[in-house]
Amino acid sequence: MATVSMDDLVALCRRRGFIFQSSEIYGGINGFWDYGPLGTLLKRNLKQAWWNDMVERELVGPDGQPVDIVGVDCTIIMNPKVWEASGHVGGFNDPMVDCKESKARYRADHLMCLGLKGDKVGQIFAYVESDDTSLAQARRKLEKYIKRELADGDIDRCAFTALSAGERAITVGPDAKTPGTLTEPRQFNLMFKTNVGAVEDPTNIAYLRPETAQGIFANFDNVLNSTRVRVPFGIAQVGKAFRNEVTPRNFTFRSREFEQMEIEFFIRPDSAAEWYAWWRDSRFRWWQSIGLSSGNLQLREHASDELAHYAKAGAGTSDIEYRFPFTAPGFGELEGVAHRSDFDLRQHATHCGKGDKMRYFDQERNERYFPHVIEPSAGADRGTLALLCEAYTPDPARPSGVVMRFHPRMAPVKAGVFPLVNKDGMPEVAERLYRDLRKRHVVEYDPKQSIGKRYARMDEAGTPYCFTIDGDTLTNQTVTVRHRDTLEQSRIAIDQVPAWLDERLG
Ligand code: ATP
Repeated sequence: MATVSMDDLVALCRRRGFIFQSSEIYGGINGFWDYGPLGTLLKRNLKQAWWNDMVERELVGPDGQPVDIVGVDCTIIMNPKVWEASGHVGGFNDPMVDCKESKARYRADHLMCLGLKGDKVGQIFAYVESDDTSLAQARRKLEKYIKRELADGDIDRCAFTALSAGERAITVGPDAKTPGTLTEPRQFNLMFKTNVGAVEDPTNIAYLRPETAQGIFANFDNVLNSTRVRVPFGIAQVGKAFRNEVTPRNFTFRSREFEQMEIEFFIRPDSAAEWYAWWRDSRFRWWQSIGLSSGNLQLREHASDELAHYAKAGAGTSDIEYRFPFTAPGFGELEGVAHRSDFDLRQHATHCGKGDKMRYFDQERNERYFPHVIEPSAGADRGTLALLCEAYTPDPARPSGVVMRFHPRMAPVKAGVFPLVNKDGMPEVAERLYRDLRKRHVVEYDPKQSIGKRYARMDEAGTPYCFTIDGDTLTNQTVTVRHRDTLEQSRIAIDQVPAWLDERLG
């Protein structure tokens, strides 16, 4: 991967209106991000493509039959019993460490430590995993402490959670100077709490959903009773989820408010292995199809000791991962595909009191059972971030210095329409073409500045095509098409432009 500088990408996102810090005018709020005009279009294209391809278009399953998926749109706040049944009240925790000196807070399992090999009494220096700056700082502190430069072979590394109490007492935090200021790891529940009703009272505590999945499970019976779907079938949902992450970081990658695109796919227990493999591979190919086609995408099967509580002994869990600039050469999760067994349906059946009555009746087999679930759970914000990272291509030969090479289906703006000069009848012709094209696509009309500057703006927005109306248009009814990726310019008849664009955008 060409190294993309996150600072440059974040700056472009702000300058061109892809992503802003939430409440920036008040100094922002950590872990929350707003999408600007271009970012909103990009993220909407991603979610729309997911919905079209998963719910609306025909998918063919491993059995050669069309795959049935229906949608729901559930509330963010649900009866708190949902989160007791799902295990989130008791177990949705991350270990947290505070630094008494710097007041910074860290995920204990994200902290690593450096020390001098063989040294039992010196100091240990903590850093944040996969943060190169933090690692470099820890190394400098260690070198300063022992007053010499170190080779890699002189250094020992280990996880903070593996340190003894004595070792923790001599550990200097990532943002601290004195040893022993990091607290013991404490469990911290990631759900945001609120109160429902006028009075703040322990009896009316509710939670903002930390995943969209539970709304689907809680509506399993409703969907069965109100539609004709039968196992195997899926329920899809796109919506906000909230997690009070201990250390939100890496731009939108780890946010406290984000959007998920989830499918709970209900199957016969004995077909789990087949459906799991099919979903894992289909989802991987889907990410490739929308532009993450380079070597930056990988599928990683979880080891058995990594599996979540609901996935133990299941057909498997894998992550679809992208090599983000801040994880490189490693990868970060875009989507998890998990065999959740029948854990959630059983839990809800027990907690709501319906018990075995909630089992599904399989007419074909004349038997009752709790269906198993294969869950492809993707993040819309991490997906959007991957699209941004993949598209970002520095190109010193262009006036903008950079071009965003989005897949045309994902590109926020599909075409630019320009009069070469803002006079001589050109704006009128250009505006007419613009009005015609915007009936079906997001297109931008721009009569201002030099044509070079207008192309540069479109390169930064990732617009795949530009149509320019010039002097020749008025005489021979043709326009110039400029192709973003090749910079090739060709002429086509103005009345062919809508069909030409439709064909390229599918
Ligand atoms: P991680 O290990 O990175 O915290 P996770 O395994 O907890 O992620 P899941 O619970 O499987 O994530 O959630 C499904 C998807 O939701 C993830 O693949 C990711 O795309 C998205 N997601 C989860 N947490 C966040 C977050 N804090 N910010 C943005 N997206 C997130």
